[in-house]
Amino acid sequence: MIDQELKNLNEPLKKNGTNHPYLVDENNWLDELGDSHQTTSIETPVNTEYLNKSDAEKLVKIQHHFKEIMETLGMDLSDDSLKGTPGRVAKMFVKEIFSGLSPRNMPDMSLFENKFGYKEVLLEKNITVQSFCEHHFLPIIGKAHIAYKPGDKVIGLSKLNRIVDYYSRRPQVQERLTRQIAETLRQVLETDSVAVYIEAVHFCVQARGIEHQGCTTVTSDFGGDFKKENVRHSFYQSIQTNI
Ligand SMILES: [Zn+2]
Repeated sequence: MIDQELKNLNEPLKKNGTNHPYLVDENNWLDELGDSHQTTSIETPVNTEYLNKSDAEKLVKIQHHFKEIMETLGMDLSDDSLKGTPGRVAKMFVKEIFSGLSPRNMPDMSLFENKFGYKEVLLEKNITVQSFCEHHFLPIIGKAHIAYKPGDKVIGLSKLNRIVDYYSRRPQVQERLTRQIAETLRQVLETDSVAVYIEAVHFCVQARGIEHQGCTTVTSDFGGDFKKENVRHSFYQSIQTNI
């Protein structure tokens, strides 16, 4: 689907005598593609040839290219305030905000015996979501609520926060983020009864394009018992109440 879209996008540009889709975008196809939130699969598209390079190599390369971007914009990189920026951005990308691209940063998801025999819904609310939209590299800020019905094994509460953090720390699409968290928890917890609900603000909607303030995007993924109307209903009620 997305391949066809990209092909359509490139065709008129080729006729214009250029093969470079980013130079001529008179009809705003790139913006429309970015806003349509189309994704190809639940997996984040990665190129392992680049992904597997060392952090040091990535830092050098990103620093170099970000310096070029700033200079191309017309900024003077010899200014004291600006000269450290490419290096800072590179470090922030690799070590912080996009560190979730690297599978070696996947949190340890070890389980414990469900010694209390607790079989009801466990809900972890208001987990901070700080991610970046992969179409514009602008922040997605919000909250996640995660619930599951334990079987014989349970997971440490903070692990739920950590798994949200791991998948958030990569260029994302909110729909994919929601599915990745839900499917990982289903595998780890060995139960389908997992619910993930995310509400977030997208800066690419607020700060550019339509520039609308105050609207939020809600995504959810319900499996197992959470597909039942009454269980889902009490999940919705629980996430609306505060202590
Ligand atoms: Zn965006």
